[in-house]
Amino acid sequence: MKSRRFGLLPVIMLAMVLGMGVLPAQAAKIRVVTTLTDLADFTREVGGDLVEVRSLATGVEDTHGVPMKPSFVPIMNRADLMVLVGLDCEHAFLPALLEASKNPRIQKDKPGYVDCSRGITPRDVPKSTDHSEGDVHPDGNPHYTLDPVSAKTAIQNIYTALVAFAPQHKAEFGRNRDAYLARLNARIAEWEKQLRPYKGTRFVSYHEHWPYFAARFGMYYFGTIELKPGVDPTARHIQELSAAMKAEHVPIVIREPQFPERTPRHIAELTGATMITLPIMPGGVPHTETYIKMMDYIVQTMATALQNRK
Ligand SMILES: [Zn+2]
Repeated sequence: MKSRRFGLLPVIMLAMVLGMGVLPAQAAKIRVVTTLTDLADFTREVGGDLVEVRSLATGVEDTHGVPMKPSFVPIMNRADLMVLVGLDCEHAFLPALLEASKNPRIQKDKPGYVDCSRGITPRDVPKSTDHSEGDVHPDGNPHYTLDPVSAKTAIQNIYTALVAFAPQHKAEFGRNRDAYLARLNARIAEWEKQLRPYKGTRFVSYHEHWPYFAARFGMYYFGTIELKPGVDPTARHIQELSAAMKAEHVPIVIREPQFPERTPRHIAELTGATMITLPIMPGGVPHTETYIKMMDYIVQTMATALQNRK
């Protein structure tokens, strides 16, 4: 009789400990969904142990056309923050997913909708913004994170959103951000040093991913294999581009892994240029799981290709 009455007490105490201690700590992780893998890496760096991050892209996709999977919807439904590139980069897939998510916290103009382009001055803003012409850069070029200095704007926007969501962790987010920026700044100095001998280098690429990168490292973006962003090349465009590249001795053709190799390789053969495959977000090719590893890979591959042509 007596033992039955007191036997319940340890159970109640255990339930209180679990309820008060362990469970809330687990539930406190901030759930973040990002469209692309570079933004996921930045969020993990700034958020540290306080965040749980999922990226819709794995790294090999077209930044403008991440294939929509049914599994994205429940992930977005539970998200506290939705982190995106902005400048209409994700217009082909994100609006439909946001609607399907039925998550009021992350809809456009809500605090959970984190547009990382805030503070970026877009390059190449077209005069007409007509999607019907197929141009996937209607608000200007959205590939600013391939310039590591512009990437710091995205990192700061993510920090600001995390602090707004969980102000009690401001000091920790600040420490994480500062530690990451210190590492990034050291790498930027190294990347500038590695590419300094190649200032003025002209190059082409399949899609218009590289104007911010070219400007940062003093290179000259000669043109794209695509007719315009999102529009496949015509035979005539390939002919004209190749002739201009030959006349100007353009040494590099960049092929991004989400596009077939055939046309970039053909142009490289026609012109005598070297074709290199470069990722445009972490995970695009092996050994590029983080943003810093990806930029290391891009700079190293570019420098080696140019060195070998000397
Ligand atoms: Zn683009």
